[in-house]
Amino acid sequence: MQLKWLMKNENNKGQEQGGVIENDEKNYPPTGEWSEIKPEVSEKCIACGQCVKFCPEGAIRIEEVNGKNRAIVDLRYCKGCELCAETCPVQAIKMVKKDD
Ligand code: SF4
Ligand code: SF4
Repeated sequence: MQLKWLMKNENNKGQEQGGVIENDEKNYPPTGEWSEIKPEVSEKCIACGQCVKFCPEGAIRIEEVNGKNRAIVDLRYCKGCELCAETCPVQAIKMVKKDD
């Protein structure tokens, strides 16, 4: 099993990244089906990286979207624990029901 818990993102110098970035599903079972809720990241995200550090599944990374860095959640691995929403300093994450 290959785990890279902390990675450097070349686009965000010094920004720690979560553990699933370079793993694929065969060596790190995805936990995304465990939950009926998911995080929704709003425009309030300031790309501080707090949620990246706290997500126990390494399911969040910071990416540039339309010229602005923001948190992106990989729902294949998000188990809906809500830690990201709890730790976000600007309340940019809201937990919502998954689409059926
Ligand atoms: S809800 Fe939990 S598992 Fe999902 S992205 Fe947030 S911290 Fe990670
Ligand atoms: S903790 Fe909040 S503000 Fe910081 S990167 Fe995550 S969603 Fe964005």
